[in-house]
Amino acid sequence: MRLKGKTAIVTGAASGIGRAIAELYAREGANVVVSDLNGEGAAKVVSEINASGGKAIAVAANVSDPGDIDNLFAEAVDAFGTLDILVNNAGIMDGFEPVGDVTDELWDRIIAVNTTSVMRTSRKAIELFQSKESGSIINVASVGGLNGGRAGAAYTASKFAVIGLTKNTAFMYAKQGIRCNVIAPGAVETNIGASMGQPNPFGYGRMQLTLPLNPGAGKPEQIAGLALFLASDEASYVNGAVITVDGGWTTA
Ligand code: NAD
Repeated sequence: MRLKGKTAIVTGAASGIGRAIAELYAREGANVVVSDLNGEGAAKVVSEINASGGKAIAVAANVSDPGDIDNLFAEAVDAFGTLDILVNNAGIMDGFEPVGDVTDELWDRIIAVNTTSVMRTSRKAIELFQSKESGSIINVASVGGLNGGRAGAAYTASKFAVIGLTKNTAFMYAKQGIRCNVIAPGAVETNIGASMGQPNPFGYGRMQLTLPLNPGAGKPEQIAGLALFLASDEASYVNGAVITVDGGWTTA
């Protein structure tokens, strides 16, 4: 077991990539805090993990609510005594709106969920990690955080910002046993489409130009394997890395 005795928080873990990461971490011996806006979905994941011999608790939390983040960390420490791994996975899509069509409401919502939340949870985790001089933060960004043609302006900016935040965090705490890395998935078969409104016809049309380069969609489990490696001691010298998991989509 590669995470035996470690405690992990995974946000957005009721579905898709977060769920696959939570399940894999539990199979590898971690105590997992399965957190999601969808509390019922998180509880379902937890009952499945616990039924198959793992150890997990569910905490309903909206990552864009600072009070919910405080409560999430309090519940994690209360249940398991400490924290070793933070996976910032919760995220929502925009509707491929180019900047000319972005409303303030859309921008604020996407940045709050995809970016500001990562700063707030990381700030909480660093406090715990510094006291033990050890810890791993894994931020799920996107190939949309590396390229301009994979999403709308708000989502693209939100994920570029996550990559910048990751590199700064990795640099700042590198001498304190704390690592921070990014997973940048390509197209993965999840429920993320449900967070999207009506696609913007112009932006969606422009994005379509990149699709013939995509060799095919991946499965959440194909992302989870990297999240396991980055959380484990095998990755002890991997810090500030941005690793694409996209089947090669962004090579062209
Ligand atoms: P998903 O919709 O299947 O799962 C996301 C989960 O996050 C859901 O359970 C949802 O309830 C939760 N969530 C949404 N808003 C939240 C909030 N405010 N607070 C707490 N939880 C919230 O989507 P997914 O594809 O598994 O997405 C996971 C991450 O992967 C996201 O950050 C997304 O941007 C990123 N990503 C996905 C793809 C893809 O193709 N699916 C590609 C690149 C990056």
